[in-house]
Amino acid sequence: MTDILVIGSGPAGYTAAIYGSRAGRSVKLIAGGQPGGQLTITSLVENYPGFADPVSGPELTDQMRRQCEKVGTEIIYDTIKSVDFSRRPFVCTGESGAFYESRTVVIATGANAKWLGVPGEEKYRGTGVSACATCDGFFFRNKTVAVIGGGNSAVEEAIYLTNFAEKVILIHRRDQLRAEKIMRDRLSENPKIEIMWNKRVAEISGDGGKVTELLLADVEDGSETVLRIDGVFVAVGHRPATSVFEGVIEIDENGYIVTKGVCTSTEGVFAAGDVCDPRYRQAIVSAAQGCMAAMDADKFLSANL
Ligand code: FAD
Ligand code: NAP
Repeated sequence: MTDILVIGSGPAGYTAAIYGSRAGRSVKLIAGGQPGGQLTITSLVENYPGFADPVSGPELTDQMRRQCEKVGTEIIYDTIKSVDFSRRPFVCTGESGAFYESRTVVIATGANAKWLGVPGEEKYRGTGVSACATCDGFFFRNKTVAVIGGGNSAVEEAIYLTNFAEKVILIHRRDQLRAEKIMRDRLSENPKIEIMWNKRVAEISGDGGKVTELLLADVEDGSETVLRIDGVFVAVGHRPATSVFEGVIEIDENGYIVTKGVCTSTEGVFAAGDVCDPRYRQAIVSAAQGCMAAMDADKFLSANL
């Protein structure tokens, strides 16, 4: 039995655990399949306060983990596969088979990469199709790669890939990028990057072993183009990791947990970070919400037990 069970080990989960532990509560944190969360697949983080020199995503989350351990959080490397919030204490079951009983729960399960769902994408995943330039960019030294998307992730991936690739083609379905101005400026200043506007990927094809080309459809006139490439990086956003909570707590039509502040539809269950935040999706916001969730959990424990 624990006071606060934190599900997820991104900035939201780690911050909730730090605040919960420092409030004198017993805290267990279930790390999930991606310890450290989304920041572990980014290179440099330049907008998290406290680091005048950019810090790498893995280093930043590793510091958070160590801070949790230092203040007494028990970190458990398991993934929650089902939850029972119909009775108290709440019970969460791990893929390991372990049951975790807790008086309160903070859900901080974040989000996962979205895919395009076009023919060839699944077949070539890992052999030319990727959602992580930091992980796979190295394999495309002196090659031509495409990046799909128009947000900060796509722009960041495209710029990062110029460290390896000879040419990077950013393909966006509109004629305007969603990415912030500072990112757009860096993109346009980079001589290795070309942008193709108003194009959708219709198909990814290859030679059976690796990707060789993309079939692109123009969104305005439907005309098709074949683009020779060696790899494609999909950066079209993320989907909240809420399947475990479906039918248990309120979730909106896009899969995000519905919250008031950080309270979910079940008293004693709180949510923080990208799992409930379709708008900001930033590490600092997730961390702040993690803090709020732990403080509210602490108040709930004081009032109810
Ligand atoms: P996440 O970081 O998504 O972590 C979710 C955690 O939940 C993971 O540890 C996962 O293992 C765990 N989990 C999931 N399901 C389960 C389960 N069933 N059981 C147990 N655990 C589970 N933001 C910035 O502020 N600055 C940046 O420079 C920046 N760069 C980015 C670069 C990229 C490529 C991407 C994809 C995002 C970037 N972001 C950046 C956004 C930022 O990473 C997220 O806003 C932030 O990580 C969200 O934190 P989180 O704690 O809510 O969730
Ligand atoms: P995002 O902002 O949601 O952008 C997704 C992009 O992919 C959009 O341009 C979207 O097009 C496009 N897209 C979505 N579905 C598509 C499809 N099926 N086919 C083709 N294109 C598709 O996601 P993100 O870029 O991953 O960013 C997520 C959050 O993390 C944001 O808040 C962002 O600011 C943050 N982040 C920050 C940094 C940083 O600060 N350095 C870096 C990375 C991410 P439309 O524009 O037409 O909708």
